[in-house]
Amino acid sequence: MPGWKDDVDVLVHEGKISVPYSWTVGSTLSRFYCELRDNAKIWANRCPSCGKVFAPPKIKCIDCYEDLHDWVELPGTGTVETYTVVRYEEPVLHPRKAPFAYGIIKMDGADTGMVHFIGDVDPEEVKAGMRVEAVFEDEREGNILDIKHFRPIT
Ligand SMILES: [Zn+2]
Repeated sequence: MPGWKDDVDVLVHEGKISVPYSWTVGSTLSRFYCELRDNAKIWANRCPSCGKVFAPPKIKCIDCYEDLHDWVELPGTGTVETYTVVRYEEPVLHPRKAPFAYGIIKMDGADTGMVHFIGDVDPEEVKAGMRVEAVFEDEREGNILDIKHFRPIT
């Protein structure tokens, strides 16, 4: 086959493929997302060995590899550990229109951070160390965006 292109005008067609898919989030995140959807509550899980609390919950402790079956309801408040401000539109889909802020929220009662939007505030006013609380969507579907964003506690 070497040289086959010598005798042919090679045509290239540009296109896009839409690939519908579905996947299971597993038993741990199913419980987490169902609590968001059905009760507007944020739950975490605790390692029985080292006591570390994970929010969002995990299947296993990242330090001791213990299975995590102890569930803890969190109060829905936390602290912005770090953040960034998106000031431009991306060609890929952002779930929010720029400008918007998002960051890592360390939930009260948890030892880990949760990445989420920070809203109801000018993005330029967001600060590390800011105290925030979860704001839930009125219509929830069972995913992380059931939390609309975290807003400053005034
Ligand atoms: Zn552990």
